[in-house]
Amino acid sequence: MSDADEVVLDLDPFEFEFACPRCSFYNPLTFRDARLGTPLICRGCKNTLMPDDAWGELDDARRRIADSIRELQESLKGAH
Ligand SMILES: [Zn+2]
Repeated sequence: MSDADEVVLDLDPFEFEFACPRCSFYNPLTFRDARLGTPLICRGCKNTLMPDDAWGELDDARRRIADSIRELQESLKGAH
Protein backbone atom coordinates (compact mmCIF):
# COMPACT_ATOMS: atom_id res chain seq x y z
CA MET A 1 0.00 0.00 0.00
CA SER A 2 1.30 3.40 -0.88
CA ASP A 3 1.09 6.18 1.58
CA ALA A 4 -1.60 8.85 1.13
CA ASP A 5 1.05 11.54 0.99
CA GLU A 6 2.18 10.18 -2.35
CA VAL A 7 -1.18 10.92 -3.90
CA VAL A 8 -0.84 14.03 -6.01
CA LEU A 9 -3.91 16.18 -5.70
CA ASP A 10 -4.76 19.18 -7.77
CA LEU A 11 -6.24 21.39 -5.11
CA ASP A 12 -6.07 24.63 -7.06
CA PRO A 13 -9.82 24.93 -7.72
CA PHE A 14 -10.74 24.26 -4.10
CA GLU A 15 -11.71 27.15 -1.91
CA PHE A 16 -11.23 27.50 1.79
CA GLU A 17 -11.95 30.24 4.26
CA PHE A 18 -9.59 31.92 6.60
CA ALA A 19 -10.13 34.49 9.27
CA CYS A 20 -8.71 37.95 8.80
CA PRO A 21 -6.04 38.52 11.47
CA ARG A 22 -7.37 42.02 12.01
CA CYS A 23 -11.15 41.72 12.08
CA SER A 24 -11.73 37.92 12.09
CA PHE A 25 -13.97 38.14 9.04
CA TYR A 26 -13.87 34.90 7.05
CA ASN A 27 -12.61 35.42 3.52
CA PRO A 28 -12.76 32.79 0.79
CA LEU A 29 -9.47 31.95 -0.89
CA THR A 30 -8.64 29.35 -3.50
CA PHE A 31 -5.61 27.13 -3.13
CA ARG A 32 -4.39 28.53 -6.40
CA ASP A 33 -4.35 32.07 -5.03
CA ALA A 34 -2.72 30.86 -1.85
CA ARG A 35 -0.08 29.00 -3.82
CA LEU A 36 0.66 32.01 -6.00
CA GLY A 37 0.59 34.37 -3.05
CA THR A 38 -2.13 36.55 -4.57
CA PRO A 39 -3.11 39.26 -2.11
CA LEU A 40 -6.79 39.74 -1.40
CA ILE A 41 -8.87 42.49 0.13
CA CYS A 42 -10.59 41.54 3.37
CA ARG A 43 -14.34 41.83 2.99
CA GLY A 44 -14.64 42.91 6.57
CA CYS A 45 -12.03 45.63 7.12
CA LYS A 46 -10.85 46.23 3.53
CA ASN A 47 -7.24 45.67 4.48
CA THR A 48 -4.96 43.82 2.09
CA LEU A 49 -4.32 40.30 3.26
CA MET A 50 -1.45 38.13 2.18
CA PRO A 51 -2.16 34.41 1.81
CA ASP A 52 0.97 33.85 3.88
CA ASP A 53 -1.22 34.67 6.87
CA ALA A 54 -3.41 31.70 6.02
CA TRP A 55 -0.85 28.92 5.72
CA GLY A 56 -1.96 27.24 8.91
CA GLU A 57 -5.58 27.07 7.81
CA LEU A 58 -4.56 26.14 4.30
CA ASP A 59 -2.69 23.16 5.65
CA ASP A 60 -5.72 22.05 7.67
CA ALA A 61 -8.00 22.45 4.67
CA ARG A 62 -5.59 20.57 2.44
CA ARG A 63 -5.53 17.69 4.89
CA ARG A 64 -9.33 17.62 5.17
CA ILE A 65 -9.73 17.53 1.39
CA ALA A 66 -7.06 14.87 1.00
CA ASP A 67 -8.81 12.76 3.64
CA SER A 68 -12.20 13.02 1.98
CA ILE A 69 -10.75 12.17 -1.43
CA ARG A 70 -8.99 9.17 0.05
CA GLU A 71 -12.22 8.02 1.67
CA LEU A 72 -13.99 8.41 -1.64
CA GLN A 73 -11.32 6.39 -3.42
CA GLU A 74 -11.53 3.65 -0.84
CA SER A 75 -15.30 3.49 -1.02
CA LEU A 76 -15.08 3.24 -4.80
CA LYS A 77 -12.48 0.51 -4.50
CA GLY A 78 -14.77 -1.44 -2.18
CA ALA A 79 -17.80 -1.14 -4.47
CA HIS A 80 -17.93 -4.10 -6.80
ZN1 LIG B 1 -10.35 42.12 7.99
